[in-house]
Amino acid sequence: MRYTDIGKDIKKLGFGLMRLPRKDDQFDLELLQKMVDIYLGKGFSYFDTSPVYGMTQSETIFGKLVAARYPREKFQIATKLPMWTLETPEEIPVKFENSLKALQVDYIDFYMLHGLSSVVSDRFPNSYLDKADRLGAWDFLKRMKAEGKAKHIGFSYHDSAEKLDEILSAHPESEFVQLQINYADWEDDVIQARRCYEVAQKHGVAVVVMEPCKGGTLVEMRADVADVFKTYDAKASLASWAIRYSASLDGIVTVLSGMSTMEQMLDNVGYMENFTPLTDEERNVIRTAKKKLEAVDTVGCTGCGYCLEGCPQQLRIPDLFRILNNQIIYGNKGDAYYRYKNLTSRTPKASDCIACGCCEGACPQHLPVISLLERTANTFEA
Ligand code: SF4
Ligand code: SF4
Repeated sequence: MRYTDIGKDIKKLGFGLMRLPRKDDQFDLELLQKMVDIYLGKGFSYFDTSPVYGMTQSETIFGKLVAARYPREKFQIATKLPMWTLETPEEIPVKFENSLKALQVDYIDFYMLHGLSSVVSDRFPNSYLDKADRLGAWDFLKRMKAEGKAKHIGFSYHDSAEKLDEILSAHPESEFVQLQINYADWEDDVIQARRCYEVAQKHGVAVVVMEPCKGGTLVEMRADVADVFKTYDAKASLASWAIRYSASLDGIVTVLSGMSTMEQMLDNVGYMENFTPLTDEERNVIRTAKKKLEAVDTVGCTGCGYCLEGCPQQLRIPDLFRILNNQIIYGNKGDAYYRYKNLTSRTPKASDCIACGCCEGACPQHLPVISLLERTANTFEA
């Protein structure tokens, strides 16, 4: 059975509700509501959340701002069953019902096991591939589908193409997989975006794209790389190149963008409202920019925050790496130093890391966090 047509009627820009807009350390719901209205008003419809996003508030916020204000047929909602929060099989239906209630819906359009991977860590003490089988999570998904409470079932994934092949062979009930795909990671040895996409195609499952801008890395680029894009088309944003790249693939349900400002929203809906796939000439522009981009050694942190929970020193790891990348990409030492000083006046410094390793096991990008923190300390604290 092939599922690659699942998303054919869905516009190729999904609204990711992980990084919600903020104002003065609070979620800016007034702004988010305006953004939601523009997004839906332009005919877009797909929202992605999880019980763990937005400090566990994301599903509830979606319920209030979208489900309570729009007819059910106007939107699709995707949410997840975070495997690391489960201890017993009995918790699974409870979490599903909690999601339905928070989202204010009576069915979920795209329901997935959250973050399947074979990586074992302190946060995930057992392989959660095994855990999904052991707790009967797949059977639960199948049951929800049969009962019409989950329209489509699948999983979000951070691991090798080889492992993905194994999972899809063992679980042909999966209709879609959520993968990290962007032009920088397409041939990356760790993320294996191309190979994972090809495995999904081989099994006939649809793909939801996450991290099309690699956590913002492809939007905040060095001037010489940005110039490659700007010379070709002065008006097109850097985000538009990254999102259109992923949206041009076949068998895509949608491409998620974690829009947290009105500016990002207006830019995204502008070029995605009447989406056109990349031309061969545009692909060459990306190839040229990528060669330049690969000439510098940035930290491939997506800002997902999975490393934060287990850190005994409470280091703000993604914030520290963002500052380091800012210095690497822009060479803007003065600003990066200022930002580092500002951040570490309130939170621990990179040199406060005690090398316990909890973060490395939790990192879906498999980053050598400890040595990167040493590099951060050497850069800013020397
Ligand atoms: S290795 Fe360092 S940064 Fe990572 S969890 Fe331990 S103390 Fe925190
Ligand atoms: S270091 Fe890894 S886990 Fe932590 S925010 Fe970055 S990508 Fe996510």
